[in-house]
Amino acid sequence: SDLVDQARLGAALTRLAHVPVERLLARPELPAGQALAARGLPARTIDGFLRPLLAALLCDPALTTSSRCADLALRAFAGGRLCVPEGGAEMLPELLAQTLPPGTVHTGVRVTSVATTSVTTAEHGEIRCRAVLLATDARAAADLLPGLRVPDFHPVTVVHHTTDEAPGTGAALLLDADRGGPVAHTALISEVDPSRAPSGRSLISSTVLGNPPPDLDTAVRTHLARLYGTPTHRWETLAVHHTREAVPAMRPPHDLRRPVRLLAGLYVCGDHRDTSTVQGALHSAHRATAAILKDLGATGSMHRADPAPTAQAA
Ligand SMILES: Cc1cc2nc3c(=O)[nH]c(=O)nc-3n(C[C@H](O)[C@H](O)[C@H](O)COP(=O)(O)OP(=O)(O)OC[C@H]3O[C@@H](n4cnc5c(N)ncnc54)[C@H](O)[C@@H]3O)c2cc1C
Repeated sequence: SDLVDQARLGAALTRLAHVPVERLLARPELPAGQALAARGLPARTIDGFLRPLLAALLCDPALTTSSRCADLALRAFAGGRLCVPEGGAEMLPELLAQTLPPGTVHTGVRVTSVATTSVTTAEHGEIRCRAVLLATDARAAADLLPGLRVPDFHPVTVVHHTTDEAPGTGAALLLDADRGGPVAHTALISEVDPSRAPSGRSLISSTVLGNPPPDLDTAVRTHLARLYGTPTHRWETLAVHHTREAVPAMRPPHDLRRPVRLLAGLYVCGDHRDTSTVQGALHSAHRATAAILKDLGATGSMHRADPAPTAQAA
């Protein structure tokens, strides 16, 4: 009957991947944990797979997130599965910046105030401009523009271990369905992206959702030994990263399209204007840049990668 459950789950995910987004967004909006129960799937599929998967995708162990956001996350999973950027999360902005003329992007500069015609920085004083797009996290955005809403956040802690003896789980993501310890999910990440691991060694990256326990190192090690079925006392802890305000909470009712144009000349984007994901941040940035181009009267494609019109096409 495990096989039957798996087949039904596979079929449900395939169907979900093809449901139009508008149809998902028309469904009643509940906390995700409640909506799952109404799915018509066996309890052990829900508790053994969907709950831990959604907790991982949403960084929300209690599944208080809007069911519409949960459906969008599951739909994206069903359509594309999981991936990590090769080289680490910072590769995505680096690749985007590389498409711009050299010198366009300056990093390590702290903005202390914004207006429609200027930005004041801690390091370089005032910089005049025609429009400002504020692309910070929600708290920094509200510090710079008081009145912007600051959501609640889900905390996330990531623990990296290295070892000479790789556990035999391959590139699979292990989800903890039993809540047998603090780890929500873990993977032998060097199997997925060897560039992240110390040379010739294995890297195991594990995520703790919610507030971490005081004895984090011991509790995580003990839990990982159970999840991987191998002793972990000789694993070396490489790094522990705790982010208290990691992911903006998306409780129902969640506005998936918060305004990005505040005034002509002043715009805001980020995961807090859309869904709390990289895709949400990018989508809100796309909406904001479209508004800026429209206000500035600019024409033409927003995509530098679009092919230039040829004589025949023009
Ligand atoms: C541990 C962890 C794991 C995650 N895992 C995933 C995942 O698997 N999938 C997923 O989709 N999302 C994940 N997220 C969420 C994802 O990282 C965010 O949703 C995304 O980075 C938001 O992008 P953003 O551009 O809105 O904001 P950010 O990435 O927060 O970028 C905002 C930038 O603004 C800068 N800034 C702030 N204040 C100022 C100032 N005053 N002056 C100048 N610059 C300033 C900051 O330095 C930062 O570089 C995870 C987050 C964390 C913390």
